[in-house]
Amino acid sequence: MSRPDGETAIPDPYGFAGHREFRERTRHLLAQSVLPHAQEWERSARIPAEAWRTLGKQGLLAFGHSGEDFLRSAVFLEELGRTGYAGIRAAVGVHAYMAASYLELFGTAEQKETYLPPIRSGECVVALAISEDEAGSDLSRLRTQALPADESGRYLTGCKHPVTNGTQADLFVTLVRTRQATSSRGLTGASLVLVDGHSPGVTRRPEPGLGMRSADVCRVGFDRVPLSDDQFLGRPGRALMYLMRALEFERLVAGILAVGGVHSCLALLGAFVREHRVGDAPLAAKQAVKHRLADLVAEFELVRHYAYRAAWRHSRGDLDSQTASILKLKATELAVETAQVCVQYHGARGYTEGSAAARHYRDAMAGTLAAGASELMRDMIFEGMSYEL
Ligand SMILES: Cc1cc2nc3c(=O)[nH]c(=O)nc-3n(C[C@H](O)[C@H](O)[C@H](O)COP(=O)(O)OP(=O)(O)OC[C@H]3O[C@@H](n4cnc5c(N)ncnc54)[C@H](O)[C@@H]3O)c2cc1C
Repeated sequence: MSRPDGETAIPDPYGFAGHREFRERTRHLLAQSVLPHAQEWERSARIPAEAWRTLGKQGLLAFGHSGEDFLRSAVFLEELGRTGYAGIRAAVGVHAYMAASYLELFGTAEQKETYLPPIRSGECVVALAISEDEAGSDLSRLRTQALPADESGRYLTGCKHPVTNGTQADLFVTLVRTRQATSSRGLTGASLVLVDGHSPGVTRRPEPGLGMRSADVCRVGFDRVPLSDDQFLGRPGRALMYLMRALEFERLVAGILAVGGVHSCLALLGAFVREHRVGDAPLAAKQAVKHRLADLVAEFELVRHYAYRAAWRHSRGDLDSQTASILKLKATELAVETAQVCVQYHGARGYTEGSAAARHYRDAMAGTLAAGASELMRDMIFEGMSYEL
């Protein structure tokens, strides 16, 4: 059990020069700027504005999305997951990676210049407004629309839910129908647009989830929000193509974050079974307990290795959606399994509202839904299956 408690070198051969120092420094910064406040952020259901700016000043919102820079991001994302607060990791992951990646990938030079610096400094909080009540896995059921302009202009109307960072977002990367669908199947006539969160007609209502409490999940309404041509992200009508690329990245990020979460849960579990005595010996003396933890550690090491391999492939421009789906599926499902064992071995003390074990348990369930439900990942993995006898 030594690895998940302590040693966290990047598995060979996916390291980069100075990666150990980088990890230590990142962990130190997160211990300073996140951990002392994490419980308060869970209670207030958001990362406060000044904390976003602190993270920005420390450079924690500005690691790269591609090339070797992404290997630094992978270490940062794992360490962020290791804080053990999945709400915080989701908020930061959406802001600095999942939502920001749409601008990086498809934004014009002017859009990038306007939005990326304040996103990286934490002055502009960004959210992803893709899902709707009836359009989660199946985005062809999208209802939010901004159909072609009449002489009074184009207006955006609809409702998005769930939206992480929703109550405080200054900017929403939004999926919207801009032409009538040409088919009842697939996502046709849809575009991505940038919506200023402070525009007239934008409303927000917090809808806290079971877990990931500091993720600021909410329902966002758009009621005739004026939309101009310069708010389109990429070419109108091309959302499906853009989503396919961005979702692959989103799943890679979600998978690495979940690996960090499993790491944190295993450390909690390992410490508990060594310390907690039932009868005349610690739980860890029982073979059934040792073997259960050994199985989890073995799974964890495999998934962690795979995560760094996926990050390395992404850094070389060589990630495919099957790999991203495998990582997201296995890491988030392992998080659920580990959290369940964690609560079980903690006994009733792990079932109390304020315990870390209960938080891991609540949080883990969100991982298998957000960024694509596990069943969708399995569909994608099956689609990409190409083994020959
Ligand atoms: C904590 C959290 C934060 C989120 N944040 C955001 C955000 O910031 N922005 C955003 O746009 N979205 C966000 N989401 C939404 C997320 O992307 C959706 O939950 C996800 O796409 C699944 O959609 P759905 O929940 O509507 O489930 P549905 O699509 O209604 O599916 C319901 C269930 O059906 C099953 N299912 C689905 N497809 C299949 C299939 N092909 N085969 C078999 N079974 C299937 C799965 O078990 C699935 O959970 C968030 C979700 C959570 C939980």
